[in-house]
Amino acid sequence: KPMEGRVSDIGPRHFGEYLPPVIKANFGKWDYHEIIEPGILLHVAQSGDKTYTVRAGTARLMSVTHLREICAIADKFSGGYVRFTTRNNLEFQVETEEAAKELKKYLNDQKFPGGAHKFPVGGTGAGVTNIVHTQGWVHCHTPATDASGTVKATMDVVFDDFTNMKLPAPVRISMACCLNMCGAVHCSDIAILGIHRKPPLIDHKYLDNLCEIPLAVAACPTGAVRPSKVEVDGETYKTVAIKEERCMFCGNCYTMCPSLPLSDGEGDGIAIMVGGKISNRITKPAFSKVVVPYVPNEPPRWPTMTKVIKKILDTYAADANKYERLGDWANRIGWERFFEKCDLPFTEHLIDDFRDPAYYTWRQTTQFKW
Ligand code: SF4
Ligand code: SF4
Repeated sequence: KPMEGRVSDIGPRHFGEYLPPVIKANFGKWDYHEIIEPGILLHVAQSGDKTYTVRAGTARLMSVTHLREICAIADKFSGGYVRFTTRNNLEFQVETEEAAKELKKYLNDQKFPGGAHKFPVGGTGAGVTNIVHTQGWVHCHTPATDASGTVKATMDVVFDDFTNMKLPAPVRISMACCLNMCGAVHCSDIAILGIHRKPPLIDHKYLDNLCEIPLAVAACPTGAVRPSKVEVDGETYKTVAIKEERCMFCGNCYTMCPSLPLSDGEGDGIAIMVGGKISNRITKPAFSKVVVPYVPNEPPRWPTMTKVIKKILDTYAADANKYERLGDWANRIGWERFFEKCDLPFTEHLIDDFRDPAYYTWRQTTQFKW
């Protein structure tokens, strides 16, 4: 039955059809919520209705078998309703605190052969929640690193902070596998960003057949691509030329033109950024800053990257005041001390001279005296 106000039945069905009854009945009329214990939230409506939510982490890429397992849990415990959060957490809603605790135990007991958790409960409050992340090598055309691999390696080293709420404040970790940044890395406490470091290769022989040259030229934000003619094996081909000193390795031209690949085993890797947030609680929202300009790709466990992240997280946990977000802590102690305490070298590569003053750079920041 179409929802009220829908003028056609084209496209996905209205999300309202899938809301649990308690959410539908109290839509837009919620009074407050609180976290009962790690992984369990209570929402109370103005009507007095209550709902308990149990949150569990997931891998974002799932098999159909795994999804069926999730559906079976929803059928057994939460009336067939389940939702995915934007951070790829699962949420099941139940009616009582006892039922929530029973479900938490059930989810924590589900293990893969070998003992790894299938649905670890946590991700609430002053801890690390699941990592919002992008497609990576599995699915996108421009990644400079993998998404699911880096995220799995990171979550394994911060697992205790997912299941507990012992940090001074929430720590939101994000991951984007290129600087097109489908993963909100610009405003996260800790961000993992895939970066290319070499300009695209040019496949002159095929470019004119595979690409619209004006589109490839227009796609470049820095004006580095221009039309050109090149002789290969005695034949002249219509193609493009790239002014390498202008290239910022964004991959936009490759999105438009498959004859301009820029993946490179040695050039590609990861930059780590910290200190961003979107909340305006206590201090205003902030952009993340680059603190490690390059970490090589080291699949399958990314040991250098996870060591850096763990060190930053542990130093913050030991040093920050209660309720202080990671960036607020670094601002208070001074970024020089942030680098010292986290054993990170500060290099001139971290100073961004981009002309737009809207970009926060180390030169402009008042918390940096060097
Ligand atoms: Fe693709 Fe870049 Fe988005 Fe990753 S961040 S999914 S590489 S566009
Ligand atoms: Fe331009 Fe980006 Fe292509 Fe470099 S990678 S040529 S900056 S579109």
